[in-house]
Amino acid sequence: MTICVLGKVPQLLSNSALELKSVSLNETLLAQSGVVCVLNLNNEEQDHILSQIHHSKYGWSWRVFTCQPSLLSDYLSDGLVDTDWLSSKEKHLPSEKLNRIINEPNDKLLAYLWLDETRKMSPMKVISETAIYRYPLLDIYHNQVRTPFRYLHRLVDADLIEADQCVDRVRYCHSCQSGHLNFVDTCPSCRSIDIKTFDALHCFTCGHVDDAKLFLSRRTMSCPKCHTELKHIGVDYDRPLELYDCNNCHQEFVESDVVAKCMTCDHTNSVNELTSRSFYRYSVGESAQRYLLDDQLESKRNIILSGSVTTSVFEATLAWKNQLSLRHKHQDLLIGIKVQNIDDYILKFGDVAYIEFISAFSEQLESLFRTTDLSCQYTDDVFFILLPHCESSFLSIIETRISEFAGKVDSELLSLIVKSWLLPSIDLTVAPEWLSERKSELND
Ligand SMILES: [Zn+2]
Ligand SMILES: [Zn+2]
Ligand SMILES: [Zn+2]
Repeated sequence: MTICVLGKVPQLLSNSALELKSVSLNETLLAQSGVVCVLNLNNEEQDHILSQIHHSKYGWSWRVFTCQPSLLSDYLSDGLVDTDWLSSKEKHLPSEKLNRIINEPNDKLLAYLWLDETRKMSPMKVISETAIYRYPLLDIYHNQVRTPFRYLHRLVDADLIEADQCVDRVRYCHSCQSGHLNFVDTCPSCRSIDIKTFDALHCFTCGHVDDAKLFLSRRTMSCPKCHTELKHIGVDYDRPLELYDCNNCHQEFVESDVVAKCMTCDHTNSVNELTSRSFYRYSVGESAQRYLLDDQLESKRNIILSGSVTTSVFEATLAWKNQLSLRHKHQDLLIGIKVQNIDDYILKFGDVAYIEFISAFSEQLESLFRTTDLSCQYTDDVFFILLPHCESSFLSIIETRISEFAGKVDSELLSLIVKSWLLPSIDLTVAPEWLSERKSELND
């Protein structure tokens, strides 16, 4: 098997028995699958070539070594040239694993990680960006500059990837999601940052607390208020304690308030209002092989709500509850939601952006509903929620919250249609038919 070398053949390899070929990164080479190559280039060129390889059609199937580290080599290459690995023929790519992927993989990034399970997807620190960290592999394969946390969370939940090690935890501004924060002590009464500390003493005789300097008179120490001479610490007075004094409102206080000022948008965050995000190093998960090699795929795109059931269970419950409510004169509410233009949205922004959207939407809905409510994903874009014993007045609250959320969706491409039906209904005799009619009403 030939090893392609980009740049000068390194000393390390020139004396080996390996079959080497000097190449340039042209269309012919990029049209090949399972290439093994060694880069011997300057940093800038190397990073450019690395991202070019991963952007190409078969980049995910390549194995790329470098001769020296560069900014992106830790994230986009298989590390420094490993002569042992290269000379052990049985390990050579195209590997047995690669041969099992017949068609273009449905997730190239996952395929890249699966081909060599020691590969990691790691976050890279980029101080100049307000996100502080980004995943170069996610940037390339899914065109995501800002980390899609909900998407990653779903992949972990589905065992497609595994969180190996927490690399860092970053807190972000509540207002603009910037990680450029400055933690500063402030006065608890007027919030000014213009505060100073001083040592204070506490007189046991009269309880007076004041600046330690005021207790010193000539050679002895006495209380400036009751004038008792203070001889023994712990008997006459307390150890010095640190106090703050505000230069703005002149309030004295023991504990300052820590706030996080955003360097990007100037918003003053209280510390508990910050969003905290953990950045992990990920490796391939146990279900990745099945996901990559089986045609029978579970969709990653489903709306997952707690209390979610299959359509048949939902229909059966609906029919049963309807009968019960007719007999006992209860009132229930059925809500139907349709997400419109999913295909256009995915075409324009990609799968990951849609999964981010749908996960945020699920979170929003879950916060609205009760644990006794039942939901079901009816089709790719339609789902129903049954709210037993629910007044119609609750509907307006739900409608407000859903339209609040819809307002936050950053694309005008996606839109939501929400309809509701009061139950029980005497027309509801055959639940599957009845529900299917409700679904058509969502199309109007
Ligand atoms: Zn103050
Ligand atoms: Zn005193
Ligand atoms: Zn901000």
